[in-house]
Amino acid sequence: MSVTPSSKPKIATCWLGGCAGCHMSLLDIDERILDLVKLVDITASPITDIKKPPEVKIALIEGAVCNEENVETLHLYREKAEFLIALGDCAVFGNLPAMRNMFSLQECLEEAFLNTDSTVNGKIPNGPDLPKLLPKVLPVPHVVKTDYCIPGCPPDADVIWFVLTELLAGRVPPPEQIPYTLFKFD
Ligand code: SF4
Repeated sequence: MSVTPSSKPKIATCWLGGCAGCHMSLLDIDERILDLVKLVDITASPITDIKKPPEVKIALIEGAVCNEENVETLHLYREKAEFLIALGDCAVFGNLPAMRNMFSLQECLEEAFLNTDSTVNGKIPNGPDLPKLLPKVLPVPHVVKTDYCIPGCPPDADVIWFVLTELLAGRVPPPEQIPYTLFKFD
C-alpha cells in the first residue's frame, strides 16, 4: 500500500530547559487539537515522541537554553523552521531556569549536590554522557533568530491557538491584538 505524502504544513515543537507546562498549555486547546491536526502535520515533538524535525513551517520552542545540548537542538530547529516561536517565559526571558544566573555555575552545583542538608558524601555529577551546562542560562532569542515570542507562564491555550491559526492563515498577528487579560505571569 502506498502512502500519499501530506500537503499540509508541518509544525514541530521541542522543550529545552522547561517544565513541560507550556506543552501542557498547548494541549489545553482541548478538542481544538482535532481542528489543528486537520490544518497541520505535527512532526517532531514531545507529544509525538519524534526526535528530529524535518523542514517545517512553524517550530514552537519551550524552555530556556541551559546546556550545550539545548544549543545544538535549538540550532537544528532554527535550521529546519520557516518561522520559529519562543513559547513561554522561560524561552522568551529565561524565567525560572535563569534564576541560577544570580550565582556562578560552580556555586549552583555545590549548593545542589554538596551543601544541601540532606546530602551525605555528595558529588557533583560529571561524565561524558552529561550535557555540559552553560555558564549562564540564555533565552531563545539570545541564541538564534526568533520570529515571534508568546510570553506567559504558561501561555494561555487561547493565545497559542490564536497565534497558530493566524500564522497558518498567512498572517503574523501583531502582539497588541492579543488581549492582555489572556497573559499569565504567575
Ligand atoms: S514558562 Fe512556565 S510553564 Fe513554560 S516551561 Fe517555563 S516555568 Fe514551565
